[in-house]
Amino acid sequence: MTDITSPSVQPVTGQSFDQLPLSPAILATLKQLGYDSMTPIQAASLPISLAGHDLIAQAKTGSGKTAAFGLPLLTRLNPRRFAVQAMVLCPTRELADQVSQEIRRLARFIDNIKIVTLCGGTTMRPQMASLEHGAHIVVGTPGRIMDHIERETLDLSALNTLVLDEADRMLDMGFYDQIAWVAKQCPRKRQTLLFSATYPEGIARLARQFMQQPQDVKLTEQH
Ligand code: ADP
Ligand code: MG
Repeated sequence: MTDITSPSVQPVTGQSFDQLPLSPAILATLKQLGYDSMTPIQAASLPISLAGHDLIAQAKTGSGKTAAFGLPLLTRLNPRRFAVQAMVLCPTRELADQVSQEIRRLARFIDNIKIVTLCGGTTMRPQMASLEHGAHIVVGTPGRIMDHIERETLDLSALNTLVLDEADRMLDMGFYDQIAWVAKQCPRKRQTLLFSATYPEGIARLARQFMQQPQDVKLTEQH
């Protein structure tokens, strides 16, 4: 099943992004994109994630989760440093492509930002070449990311943000062990942000093993 991004986004809160600790360049970009008001998950989670806390956020598809993790990771990104500083794990190639696109839109104020998508089903070599020339952000599926770490074509020593997007779907697809293995290869001092539509036991296990005092944000059905 593919994730259909709804053309009209979820109810907005009337709360503007201006009140958050975001750079003028990010605020200008959000304005250009027509993001006048935060969605409920953005309003509930951004104050926590921008303060540097680990976070478990429960919200359904189409609620604006990409910006909820994209803005904190872009806020911390140093574009002059050509090293992977943020990594987003997604269940499928389609979702990884959507996340890459949305982060690219949010990051258009940064010249020469390099976002590399790493998914299975295509040859390793072009991905290895992209990584070799330096990437700031990688987005991909757990198996292929694991493959790159094992071959030492992906260096995570400069990583400061790890995102598990659609975590419940990744668990449904049997990715628990891969996610755990990948998380163990990341620097301990980092922020971990987990997004999920539901909260099965596997999520709690991941949180206990790989997150530091995560704060929970849960939105009710109508959001
Ligand atoms: P999710 O990951 O929760 O399914 P997305 O991050 O893909 O949702 O966002 C869904 C759509 O809403 C995207 O097209 C995105 O550009 C748009 N969007 C996100 N946040 C806002 C906002 N604050 N205002 C307007 N549109 C938004
Ligand atoms: Mg999404």
